[in-house]
Amino acid sequence: MFDETFIAMGIRRIAIIGSGIAGLTAAIKLKEQGHDVSLFEKSRGPGGRLAAKRVANGSVDVGAQYFTSRNPEFLPFLTRFAGNSSFTTWDGQFGFQGKDGQWQEFPDEPRYVGIPRMTAVSRALSAHVTVTAETRIERIVRNDNGWVLSDRAGNVQAVEFDSVIITAPPAQARDLLVQSNLPEQAAYLDDAVTRVLPCWAVAAHFKETPWPRHEGMRCDHPSLFWVANNSSKPGRKGEDQGGRGSWWVLHASSEWSQRNLETTPDQVAAELIAAFRELTGSDLMATDSVTHRWLYARSEGGSSPGHLWFPEQDIGLAGDWLSGGRVEGAFDSACSLVSAYVATDASR
Ligand SMILES: Cc1cc2nc3c(=O)[nH]c(=O)nc-3n(C[C@H](O)[C@H](O)[C@H](O)COP(=O)(O)OP(=O)(O)OC[C@H]3O[C@@H](n4cnc5c(N)ncnc54)[C@H](O)[C@@H]3O)c2cc1C
Repeated sequence: MFDETFIAMGIRRIAIIGSGIAGLTAAIKLKEQGHDVSLFEKSRGPGGRLAAKRVANGSVDVGAQYFTSRNPEFLPFLTRFAGNSSFTTWDGQFGFQGKDGQWQEFPDEPRYVGIPRMTAVSRALSAHVTVTAETRIERIVRNDNGWVLSDRAGNVQAVEFDSVIITAPPAQARDLLVQSNLPEQAAYLDDAVTRVLPCWAVAAHFKETPWPRHEGMRCDHPSLFWVANNSSKPGRKGEDQGGRGSWWVLHASSEWSQRNLETTPDQVAAELIAAFRELTGSDLMATDSVTHRWLYARSEGGSSPGHLWFPEQDIGLAGDWLSGGRVEGAFDSACSLVSAYVATDASR
């Protein structure tokens, strides 16, 4: 009876795998179209690479540092579904280092951050949808009623889904398609898998400001790619230890991260903090640090089709890697997949 009513009303049951910005955007937009949407997330909470790590008195953003809003639909979407209180602009000096080692200023454009951490945005978005966390989907199999999802623990979801949307990074998405005996669809991801690069992230606390010139900077250094003063972001004051000092985020270059994939976190922290001191000429010692290894951090190069949609199988893929990388790319990709989905729906 329930299913018949669903069919009569054109409501489709859609499973979305991954609750980063792409998964959350697709879920909210498809729910707005009247569909019955369920999100599955392998981690403890939503957000994906919008990630923060706990430190004394607060947290530090170890994944995406900020986002832009060049697509005029992005800010209105965030304002409507995440609310103005979950994000704001991060003002300050942003620079990059030329080949000659000299610092130049970044182009002036608004940069946005979640408050008090990047995950505030994903958390607020996730309030509009149903997220089943700590559930890594390993296989999807089609029966007469639709797609059946099973997770790593061998549990099978009780409901069959009309459509499945995968928003995991390409290596994880391809594994899932291969496990699900969908080699043709998996082959579309072969090139993208090779273009996603790892990144070691270290957050280090200093009692005094080691570098007053920039709040965020892209470096031309063999081991460092990006450095930011996390405590300069709005809403982070409580992270100072005893009201003094600041937390700095150091992201290693892709090449260095690749070479040091198996280096211990302590050694990574020691090397990147030493590189930071060398870069800034500061002799300050870090008083605390935390480390995170991203196996799939950034996509570089390649084509940007926006999304992948296989209407015969009712399977779609979205994610930053399909739309130029970055937070905003994840949003753009989800929007373009939803448009394709709605167009197919209209012609069914
Ligand atoms: C170190 C670093 C710095 C960055 N800096 C910036 C920046 O300054 N500005 C910017 O715009 N972008 C930045 N980015 C990129 C930005 O974070 C991403 O582009 C964006 O967050 C990707 O969103 P997404 O939804 O496509 O993927 P993700 O956020 O990766 O979401 C995918 C989700 O799928 C889940 N998942 C994977 N496999 C499964 C499975 N089998 N079952 C269930 N769940 C699964 C994952 O746990 C994850 O939550 C940075 C990224 C990193 C790592």
